[in-house]
Parts: sequence; structure tokens; C-alpha cells
Amino acid sequence: MNNKKLSIVIPMFNEQGNIELLYNELLTIIKQLKYFKNFEIIAVNDGSQDSTLQILKKIAQKDSNFKVISFTRNFGHEQATYAGIHNTNGEAVILIDADRQDPPELILEFEKEFLNGYHIVYGQRSKRENESIFKKLTSKAFYPIFKFFTKIDLPQNVGDFCLMSRKAVDFFKRMPEKTLFIRGLVYWSGLPKKAILFIRKARYSGKSKYNYTKLTIFALENIISFSTTPIYAIIFLSILIIISCFIGVITALLMKIFGYVILIGWTSIIISILFLFAVTLFSLGMIGLYIGKIFQEIKNRPVFLIDEKINF
Ligand code: UDP
Ligand code: MG
Repeated sequence: MNNKKLSIVIPMFNEQGNIELLYNELLTIIKQLKYFKNFEIIAVNDGSQDSTLQILKKIAQKDSNFKVISFTRNFGHEQATYAGIHNTNGEAVILIDADRQDPPELILEFEKEFLNGYHIVYGQRSKRENESIFKKLTSKAFYPIFKFFTKIDLPQNVGDFCLMSRKAVDFFKRMPEKTLFIRGLVYWSGLPKKAILFIRKARYSGKSKYNYTKLTIFALENIISFSTTPIYAIIFLSILIIISCFIGVITALLMKIFGYVILIGWTSIIISILFLFAVTLFSLGMIGLYIGKIFQEIKNRPVFLIDEKINF
């Protein structure tokens, strides 16, 4: 660890329009820091297809504190962040997106709370600009579901934008899993944390890399990798269905014995078949996800491959 050094990690996938502005903004902010006297910026190029890498190399040539890790191809946002964190040596680490949706000036507040003894200081979005109602609603729904299944107190409306102390980073680095949910892993440690509110603006340049399919998979994967509760939920659901079937059969028998007319409809049969089919399919899917996870972990493949490292 390097005392009084701040490491800033930025994952980047096709961010050519944002890099230089962000870099200059970060330099201005770094100059205003009170405690941190040194810094390193680690930009992780996650297989960009535009001129991101060329721009990064140009900056790295001029500034030896600006380091570049370049992947062989696109491995994903979480993998890029993970690689960045593992290559830091500062006393604290900042995670920030490249598109300037995370305002760099918040780093000054992060430093203050870090000096107050918090190990994780994170930006919490008080308002989300330019996001559809659907995205707002689904992201609102995710947190309580995640907490219900995993018992991890994941703060609401939080991205990866945060400061982690070296202690938090060391805990993070001890987690060997391949399924990366950076936020989950960061807060899993239970270290003291503090929120700083900010307004999340629209992305400055380029398009978001997340669509709804990707987000749904992301949400499911995260719950699966942190909790086995869904398996129990399936078992309880099946018990419930079996009990209601019994009740149904007994009621029908009693009605027959006491001379009531039972109308056996075609619709009800079809509905129950469909319902049971759905439950079976759902359960199979859930179990499949867990097996998939085990498969992934057992293969023990690296989650990213580094093509090039500059200024390390
Ligand atoms: N990103 C990445 N690899 C990817 C997708 C995204 O490194 O495969 C980076 C991206 O360049 C940005 C950050 O991760 O710095 C967040 O991505 P994005 O802005 O697309 O996500 P959103 O803000 O829409 O959630
Ligand atoms: Mg963004």
C-alpha cells in the first residue's frame, strides 16, 4: 500500500468522446484534495472498438500517473472494474464511470468521509435524469428483492461510484468467485459506509451499454450468486401446490358424497396443467442457473485477459 495515494479506477468500453474531458476534470479535483498527495488513474479498456485505446495511450505517454490496462476483447463492465481494483496500490480506491454520469467533484466529499473513518463512501442517486419510467421502476424493485433473498444491505439507487479504503479493497480481493457483482461484494464486507447524495445526469457522450435483457440477466445472476433462498422458495411453492391439490381432491370427494353436482370444466384442467408446467419450468430454470454457476466456478477460467499494461 502506498500512503496518501488515491487510486481511481475507470472501466471503459467505447468512451472516446468522454475520456479527455473526464481526465481533465479529475486532475482539477485531485489538486483540491486535502489528504491525498499522490494519485494514479487506472483506465481499463474493455475491448473498445472506437479510438478509446489510442486516446488512453496518448494520455499515458504524457502522464506516468495515468495507467492503462487493455483487455483482449470486451469482457464486461464488472470484469473491467475488478481488474482495475486488483491493480491498485493506493490507500483508497475510487470507482467511477467514464461517461461523467458520476460527478468527479463528489470525490472531495468522499475524501472528507474517508477521513471521518468510513471505509466505503458511495454516491447515492437522489434523482435520475433522462431515464424511462420503466427503468426507474425496475431498478426500484431490484433492491428489496435482492435484500429479501440475500440479506445484504445493498443501498438503493447506487452504482459502482464509491471510495473504498485499503481495508475494504483487501476484503474485496479475498473473494475468489467468478460471478462479479461489484456492489454486492463491496457491501458484503459489512464495513462502515456512508452515502453522499447526488443527481445522476444523462450520459455525456455515447450510448448506455445496458439494455433490459442484459439488466434482467444481471439482476437474476446477482441474486443467484449471493443466495440459495430461491431454491427454498421453489420447494415451499411445490409443497403449497401439493397441499392445495389435496384440499381440492378432498373437497371434490366430499361434494360428491353429499350429492352436490360438480362441474368438471375443460378450462380448469388446461389452466392447472399450464400452471404446473410453468412451475416446473421455472424450477428447472432456477436449478439450471445454480448448476450453471457451479460449472462456471469449477472451470476456474480467468474472467478477463489482459492484452497490454501501460505505466505499471
Ligand atoms: N463498460 C465497460 N464494459 C462494458 C460496458 C460498460 O467497461 O461492457 C463501462 C462504460 O464504459 C462505463 C461504465 O462501464 O464507464 C458504465 O457503463 P454504462 O454507462 O453503459 O452503464 P449505465 O450508466 O447505463 O448503467
Ligand atoms: Mg453510464
